[in-house]
Amino acid sequence: MKNINGGILRKIKSLPTLVFQVNHPTKQLTTNTQHDNKMFCQNISFDDLANDVDHQETTCEYETHHFFQESNTMEENKLLCNFEYKCPPGGKDAIILYTTSLRGIRKTFEDCNMIRFLLESFRVVYYERDVSIHIEYREELWRILGGRIVPPRLFIKGRDIGRANEVAGLHEQGILKKLLHDIPLISSNFPCNGCCGIRFVLCLSCHGCCKIIDQDQGKVTNGYRIRCPKCNENGLIKCPVCS
Ligand SMILES: [Zn+2]
Ligand SMILES: [Zn+2]
Repeated sequence: MKNINGGILRKIKSLPTLVFQVNHPTKQLTTNTQHDNKMFCQNISFDDLANDVDHQETTCEYETHHFFQESNTMEENKLLCNFEYKCPPGGKDAIILYTTSLRGIRKTFEDCNMIRFLLESFRVVYYERDVSIHIEYREELWRILGGRIVPPRLFIKGRDIGRANEVAGLHEQGILKKLLHDIPLISSNFPCNGCCGIRFVLCLSCHGCCKIIDQDQGKVTNGYRIRCPKCNENGLIKCPVCS
């Protein structure tokens, strides 16, 4: 057992992030990389682990405060695992919030504002995808959840956290804060200087009119204008600085 544990400990020591937790009576040693969010667990006796550490003081540097700090991280990662993994594109390590800025349905608009307000109060960096500005975001949301889902919808590190009611409930229970524990905080250059946080800027090719001159035709009349291939339905392109 000692040799096996020694191997495990050396292996863990080489990983970029180490997380281990001790439960009673069956103790677990768990490693976790922030990079791929995959975990593997090895059942291991705490006594065996302690003996192994005693015999390898020169190679294993487990400090008490580090131990508890990492245990907390493990608890928060486990919390996140309670939510279904339905990762939006680019959302594996980030917060993605699907919203709409249309005010047609007042509750929907207010729900979007509520989640936005909560995230901003925690000062975490999040990426808002407004389906009313960019239709591809709406299709993306429908594809991820397999239905015609209405915003807002919150995803944290690829996990589907839910709608406004669910997010508000998690906040009241103090869980939302834990789910956000290792998300980067807003820095001084946020919101983005390029788009003021809107994530979109006016298309430089067509200046927002969605039409460009068809160069193949060699004409400059309106009759030969074609749909601009670079922008969305509103003549906008994703901000080159932050998106
Ligand atoms: Zn930007
Ligand atoms: Zn354009």
